[in-house]
Amino acid sequence: MKIVRNNEALEAFLSNYKLNNPSKSIGFVPTMGALHQGHISLINHAKTTSNLVVCSVFVNPTQFDKANDLENYPRTELADIEILHNNGCDVVYLPQFEDVYPEKNIDYNINLEGLDKVLEGKYRDGHFNGVCMVVERLLNLVQPDFAYFGLKDFQQVSIIKHMVRIRKLKTTIVPCPIIREKSGLAMSSRNTLLTDQQRLDATIINKTLEIGKKAYQEGHDYKKVREKMFTFFQSGNLELEYLEIVDNDTLLNSTILNSNTSICIAAYCGKIRLIDNCQF
Ligand code: AMP
Repeated sequence: MKIVRNNEALEAFLSNYKLNNPSKSIGFVPTMGALHQGHISLINHAKTTSNLVVCSVFVNPTQFDKANDLENYPRTELADIEILHNNGCDVVYLPQFEDVYPEKNIDYNINLEGLDKVLEGKYRDGHFNGVCMVVERLLNLVQPDFAYFGLKDFQQVSIIKHMVRIRKLKTTIVPCPIIREKSGLAMSSRNTLLTDQQRLDATIINKTLEIGKKAYQEGHDYKKVREKMFTFFQSGNLELEYLEIVDNDTLLNSTILNSNTSICIAAYCGKIRLIDNCQF
C-alpha cells in the first residue's frame, strides 16, 4: 500500500498510474479515520467495482460546528494505516490542512436547495457546506471514477449526489449499506467515546428504528408509527434531538410511508451525538 502525505505525492502517483493503466478505474473512499468495519465495507465495495482503491484520512475542521467535537474526535493514524493495509487499500492519502485548503481565506458556498436545511442541517449550522467543500476538493484531487459513501450518513449521500450533479463532476457516487455491531448499533468512530454502559444504552436508537419499521409492516399509519417510536424511545435514557420520517429524494417530512421514505434519528448519549436511519 502506497502512503502519500501531500498533494505532490498523490498527483505523482495517480498520474503515473493513469498513464500506465488508461483503461483501469479508480475508486475513492473518503474518511475521517478511526476506521471500523463500516469503513472497511466501503473499501470492500470499492475493491469489487474499481481497479485501484484510494482512501483518504482527514479530520475536516470545516464540517465541525463545535470546537470541542473537533478536538475530541478520535485520531488513530497508525491503526488506520494498518487496517487499510490489511484490507486491500492501494493508496492512502493523509493530507495536511494546507493540502486540502491551500487558500488563506476559505470561501465556499454551495446552494444545496434546502437539502441542507432539514434533519442534521437544522442542528449543525454550516456542516454540509463544510462536507461539500472537503468532498469537492478531494474529488478534484483524486479524480476517481467512483466514490463510495455510507448510508449511515443518509443525508450526506443525498447532498453529495446533488453537489456532484450541479458541479458537473465526473465521479459516480456509490451509496453503501449501514454496517452495525452485533447489538444493532450503527458503527461509528464516535462509538469509541462511549462507555460500555452507554454502548448498551445507545441501542435504543436502532431498536426504535426497528419498532417503526415493524409498525409500518403491520399496516399502521404515519401517526401511529411515530407514536410507537416516540413511546419506545422515551423508555431509554438518551436525549432525542430529532426523529423524522422523510421522503428519500426531498428529505422533507412525509406522512405517506412507503419504500421511498426513511426514518432518521439523532440523539445524545451523554455528550456523544449519534445518528442512524433506516428505510421502510
Ligand atoms: P467518517 O469517517 O465518519 O467521515 O465516514 C467515512 C465514510 O464511512 C462515510 O461515507 C460514512 O457514511 C461511512 N460510514 C461510517 N460509518 C458507517 C457504517 N456504520 N456503515 C457504513 N458506512 C459507514
